[in-house]
Amino acid sequence: MVFRSNMSLALEEARQAAARGEVPVGAVVVAPDGTVIAAAGNRTRELNDPTAHAEMLAIREACALLGVERLIGHDLYVTLEPCPMCAGAISNARLRRVYYGAEDRKSGGVAHGARVFSHPQCHHVPEVYDGVSAAEAERLLVDFFAARRDDEP
Ligand SMILES: [Zn+2]
Repeated sequence: MVFRSNMSLALEEARQAAARGEVPVGAVVVAPDGTVIAAAGNRTRELNDPTAHAEMLAIREACALLGVERLIGHDLYVTLEPCPMCAGAISNARLRRVYYGAEDRKSGGVAHGARVFSHPQCHHVPEVYDGVSAAEAERLLVDFFAARRDDEP
């Protein structure tokens, strides 16, 4: 039940991102005791920051809140397969587990592309669980990009 509500929260962040005109991706950091520490959606457009992916913002927020640079024992829930940048940040943050929803064949860096966690240089490899609420996460992305296409002349 806790498991589902954490991804539900990430999906809610993704929906809010879409409402702001951002690519709908949401992420949540959960403490070892199950407490949600941080939740964020993409804000790359709003912040004019190509690194403002949901995962980056949630990790930064959690670290700032706790006053630590590593989130040992913490888990990350994200609606889309992390890109190579975020996968690197996840490793540096020493997150224990990553649960993600939709796969990202184009920009993903976990199961696709750079496959960051599969490299010997990757100092910390989290446990990865894919496909969590994948259909719902994917629908948000498909609807968002379809709507944007319709806006174009
Ligand atoms: Zn990313």
